Amino acid sequence: MSFPYEAPVSQSLFDRASVVTPGGVNSPVRAFRAVGGTPRFMVSGTGPYLTDADGREYVDLVCSWGPMILGHSHPQVIAAVQEAVARGTSFGTPGAGEVELAEEIVGRIDPVEQVRLVSSGTEATMSAIRLARGFTGRAKVVKFAGCYHGHVDALLAAAGSGVATFGLPDTPGVTGAQAGDTIVLPYNDLEAVRAAFAAHEGEIACVITEASPGNMGVVPPLPGFNQGLKDLCAAHGALYVSDEVMTGFRVSRAGWYGIDGVRPDLMTFGKVMGGGFPAAAFGGRADVMAHLAPAGPVYQAGTLSGNPIATAAGVAQLRLLDEAAYEKVDAVSAELRSLVGEAFTKAGVAHRLQVAGNMFSVFFTDREVTNYDEAKAQESFRFTAFFHSMLEHGVYLPPSAFESWFVSTAHDTRAVERIAAALPAAARAAAEAKA
Ligand code: PLP
Repeated sequence: MSFPYEAPVSQSLFDRASVVTPGGVNSPVRAFRAVGGTPRFMVSGTGPYLTDADGREYVDLVCSWGPMILGHSHPQVIAAVQEAVARGTSFGTPGAGEVELAEEIVGRIDPVEQVRLVSSGTEATMSAIRLARGFTGRAKVVKFAGCYHGHVDALLAAAGSGVATFGLPDTPGVTGAQAGDTIVLPYNDLEAVRAAFAAHEGEIACVITEASPGNMGVVPPLPGFNQGLKDLCAAHGALYVSDEVMTGFRVSRAGWYGIDGVRPDLMTFGKVMGGGFPAAAFGGRADVMAHLAPAGPVYQAGTLSGNPIATAAGVAQLRLLDEAAYEKVDAVSAELRSLVGEAFTKAGVAHRLQVAGNMFSVFFTDREVTNYDEAKAQESFRFTAFFHSMLEHGVYLPPSAFESWFVSTAHDTRAVERIAAALPAAARAAAEAKA
């Protein structure tokens, strides 16, 4: 595919980056490999807009992959950060900000009786499964194909083939030993979970699942799936670990738990709770958390855990996220979904909009998508054409057909109108795209 519009400054930054950084980026999806073209190097963000190094402005539908739920440079978050920075950037001691952020989380999410702060979602899930193994004295972990829990060695295993039960390492560098205790199952398939518990009675420490997956596109749990997981875990002495790094504080005040009410034993958080800074957390039942050092024997630590700038940003952001804020984000999401659906229908493109709270994504298929195999069966080549047309018209989408779109309280009428104006041509480009 050719790209008629150019981004010379981004291209020259990308050329320089590619010399000093593998693939030119610090997180793979940023490289645009799935869609081609020049990744845009962003220099600033205000409200719903990002501005790239070539001076072009985009309506942002990535929101830093979720965190920026109040839009970019929210004045109250910026003020809280400036105030914190002026007092020093890291002390390596306990601080009041950590207590405030922990109280904010515990106050919103009933199953979280205690919480430990870390710096990334990856650390949160890695620590949660270590704790689950330490608490239960068992080794095996069940995860679902298509669920992403960060780049934790044991959790990168995703069934390479439909018949594989034990995860084979999905990436070089993850050894068989690291992945060998991971059981990868198809998402939304309770029978498979039941069979795994039967085959490995007394060996499974936990089942970890995205509370509502957003990393294979948006594929919500079928009714009763999360409750079924919880019940099977309880029946077999395993912990139910709900990964809310993406959904937490985004789809409601209490994340996906606030929507489905299924009580996890442990939960993981990140993204929104850091206000755009590296802050994440895992938490849950106090009797389980009590096994964590220094209260208990399971070791976990971090030089920058509970960093004062990150906690100040997180506390400021969470305190601004009242019911009205979620209503606003939900309303913008609903409006965009209807505009997107209308554009594809008019252009005659088979599509399916899948929704989890205010998160949504488009699958180029006419069938419901309930698991990773179905997600992969979509006509993702149409997304490439759609993505580039939107980009050309000033709308920045996730550069992959397998990611959620994110909106914010800052997406106002002007931003929505700009997206609406870009959609018809992009939908036509998707219709005309060839595999
Ligand atoms: N868990 C989920 C559900 C995620 O979506 C992500 C990141 O996208 C992670 C864990 C990993 O978080 P991080 O990128 O902060 O390490």
